[in-house]
Amino acid sequence: MIPRTLFSEEHQIFREQCRALFEKEFVPQHAQWERDGIVPRSAWQFMGESGLLCTSVSEHLGGIGADRLMAVTMLEELSDLGLSGMALNFAMHSEIVTPYLVKYGSLEQKERWLPAMIRGERIGALAMTEPGGGSDLQRMKTVALPDGDGFRLNGQKTFISNGQLTNLAIVAAKTNPTEGARGISLFLVEGERAGFSKGRNLEKIGLHSADTSELFFDDVWIPAENLVGEEGQGFRYMMQELPWERLQLAIVAVAACEAAVRWTSDYCREREAFGRPIASFQNTQFRLAELRTETQIARVFVDRCIGLLLEGKLEIESAAMAKYWTTDLQCKVVDQCLQLHGGYGYMREYAIGRAFVDSRAQRIYGGTNEIMKEIISRTN
Ligand SMILES: Cc1cc2nc3c(=O)[nH]c(=O)nc-3n(C[C@H](O)[C@H](O)[C@H](O)COP(=O)(O)OP(=O)(O)OC[C@H]3O[C@@H](n4cnc5c(N)ncnc54)[C@H](O)[C@@H]3O)c2cc1C
Repeated sequence: MIPRTLFSEEHQIFREQCRALFEKEFVPQHAQWERDGIVPRSAWQFMGESGLLCTSVSEHLGGIGADRLMAVTMLEELSDLGLSGMALNFAMHSEIVTPYLVKYGSLEQKERWLPAMIRGERIGALAMTEPGGGSDLQRMKTVALPDGDGFRLNGQKTFISNGQLTNLAIVAAKTNPTEGARGISLFLVEGERAGFSKGRNLEKIGLHSADTSELFFDDVWIPAENLVGEEGQGFRYMMQELPWERLQLAIVAVAACEAAVRWTSDYCREREAFGRPIASFQNTQFRLAELRTETQIARVFVDRCIGLLLEGKLEIESAAMAKYWTTDLQCKVVDQCLQLHGGYGYMREYAIGRAFVDSRAQRIYGGTNEIMKEIISRTN
């Protein structure tokens, strides 16, 4: 295996501590949370008390001021343990919503909201997608029009991760409906604001422990101080944040591939057919050799992208390549590993069966893989 050189000893210790905590606190309860379709607030509070939410926020705002590699190790361990829904929703809170506040929020917004997000009391969501479309964000219908010292928000969002639990959503809305990208602004919307309501917890085919919802905004008044950054800059902010968001999906994808191959190697050594372990068939050996090779290639590319991100040099195009290629690979690897499990692979009791349905969303959210190819094509 090609050694990973990005991580220090401190990262390795952090990784081991996270894994031990997740194995003890989350793994035994995860099947129940999948049946419930949601992770309880107590798990969020546990993450907060353990200092594992929003780890990159600086110490003077209540965080631990860690580098992004701490977040990477956490994502990898959650994914490796098959806690894919939790990886998605914790990352949404800590590494997708929080950076908007850190980078574009006012000092007042940061001081007001970040400590509560770090403690897991305020749970973040990012509401961009609407029932009418997610790929073409410039045509969103949700509007926030000037009203007194603030804005009046009307519209609807769907497929929103953390949608049931969120009490601090960043909502994208048109402040100038006649403009495209330049008409979009971002707003912080507290859960208790009058006119903000949530639809049902959507029934997904996988990622069952991740709550995903419709959100409704019916004449919600938002004070001007809840505007994130500058009016009309929301689309630009979203485009700036997408490379890291997409790289996180690639990080999850590679960790999921590694786990699937490992589970399958173990299974094939145990399971017998025709009086011998299925691991002894050449088809099994070659298939696992192929999947391990492709996973290793993905690992090297994604690690390089992580390195570029740390240097502030990850371009939108490379992040799109990483997202599209690794999530396609994830679906292929998990499917072929499931095949090697035979009928047991189709049972939810087996991690590979759950990974199969969990993996499918990866090619859709964060921008579909077709949109990734659109982005890459721009520099053909
Ligand atoms: C589990 C889950 C969690 C999610 N979490 C969030 C969240 O927290 N916040 C949020 O805002 N959204 C979230 N989403 C929404 C997700 O980002 C959108 O589903 C995604 O961007 C696609 O939008 P859409 O579903 O409207 O599909 P559409 O935009 O309708 O696309 C349908 C199909 O058309 C293709 N297509 C569209 N345009 C083009 C084009 N120009 N060229 C070629 N093909 C094209 C797409 O690739 C796709 O195959 C989540 C989705 C899921 C499944």
